[in-house]
Amino acid sequence: MKTILGFVITLTVVISGFAQTMPKDADPVLWQKALRIHRRAIVVDGHNDITSPMVDEDLDLATDTRGKFHKDGDPFYTDLSRLKQGGITGEFFAIYVSGSTLKTGGAMRRAMDLIDATYREVERHPKQLSLCTTAADIRLAKAQGKICALMGIEGGYAIENSLYALRDFYRLGIRYMTLTHNVSHDWADAHGDVPKNNGLSEFGKEVVREMNRLGMFVDISHVSEKVMNDVLDVSTAPIIASHSSARALNDHTRNVSDAVLRRVAKNGGVIMVNFYPSFLDARTNKEENERAARLKPQLDALRDKFKNDPDGFNAGRRKLFAENPIYVTPYTRIVDHIDHIRDVAGIDHVGLGSDFDGIPFLPAGMSGSEAMPLITYEMLRRGYTEADIRKVLGGNFLRAMAQMEKVAGKRQISGQGSLKKLSK
Ligand SMILES: [Zn+2]
Repeated sequence: MKTILGFVITLTVVISGFAQTMPKDADPVLWQKALRIHRRAIVVDGHNDITSPMVDEDLDLATDTRGKFHKDGDPFYTDLSRLKQGGITGEFFAIYVSGSTLKTGGAMRRAMDLIDATYREVERHPKQLSLCTTAADIRLAKAQGKICALMGIEGGYAIENSLYALRDFYRLGIRYMTLTHNVSHDWADAHGDVPKNNGLSEFGKEVVREMNRLGMFVDISHVSEKVMNDVLDVSTAPIIASHSSARALNDHTRNVSDAVLRRVAKNGGVIMVNFYPSFLDARTNKEENERAARLKPQLDALRDKFKNDPDGFNAGRRKLFAENPIYVTPYTRIVDHIDHIRDVAGIDHVGLGSDFDGIPFLPAGMSGSEAMPLITYEMLRRGYTEADIRKVLGGNFLRAMAQMEKVAGKRQISGQGSLKKLSK
């Protein structure tokens, strides 16, 4: 029986295209059921930072990235085959612009480079990838067996205080904008930074209204709690947190409080849970910070020794971290956050925002994009129905996107152009 079962499982895995290792302690029958549900579902991931190495390292997504490392030494979690194995239908390529551009300039240029890199990947792999800008596009790609490349800007300063540029970004296919990254700027305050605008400035509110008019999600990941509330006061369309978890389970400023969760429920938006162990779990966060402080002298020495050899430095750093392990929360912790958001905001307001390739390590038991079915398995194990699992995997995002598209176009063009024309 065991042999037959093993054969059936192997066969099913091969047929389904999910060459995914079953968790060690998993029930094989339930695991197969999870794979079937996962395969049928539309899976949307709110945030993936693979776009940066596509520009900086000329990475082609056809490259097998397993066991390979980014220039900064962190592991790769994404490539085309891994996305396919993970059953991902819609992947948001992050058009991430560093806050350092507020000093150096070049924010819009950086965004343009990343957008072009995303287009080029779609042009290189037309059988596997399709550029998607609507909820209908995502459904079509699922029917065609393709992966949607969607784009979201991370760091609202990429528009360089210009609503003209915001509209151009929309025309290029940008469908969400995270209003800040980790630093406060001219019109919006960031989480964990000194506020400059007491939340969202008047121009910031105009940006939100124009995003509503265009049909671009306002993304509240990375912003201060005051900005989250200001956005919820102004926005007439559903909003998202493209990659944030629940603050009640880990009191981190990158996470979303219960008060905001309740408002997002009324707004119709979706909180897409971030997989970063330090956002998911206070113990991992604390141990990661303590290790960084404790090992600083050794890291400084390594940096000095490998001044002209980044690979040498990265290998040394990895060895040092391996010798000084920390508690890494398991992947089931992601589902703890899903449970919590369901309990506070409702099952219609939770989704997934992995942050793959933007975070230095993943929860224990999770290897990369290919591991997405683990979340489906864990939800199934906890008694979620297939209908509810499908909502979390992508259904909620699609519903919110369709609603946002309905709101768009209903408002007259504002006529406002740029920050200097508006009093701040
Ligand atoms: Zn981020």
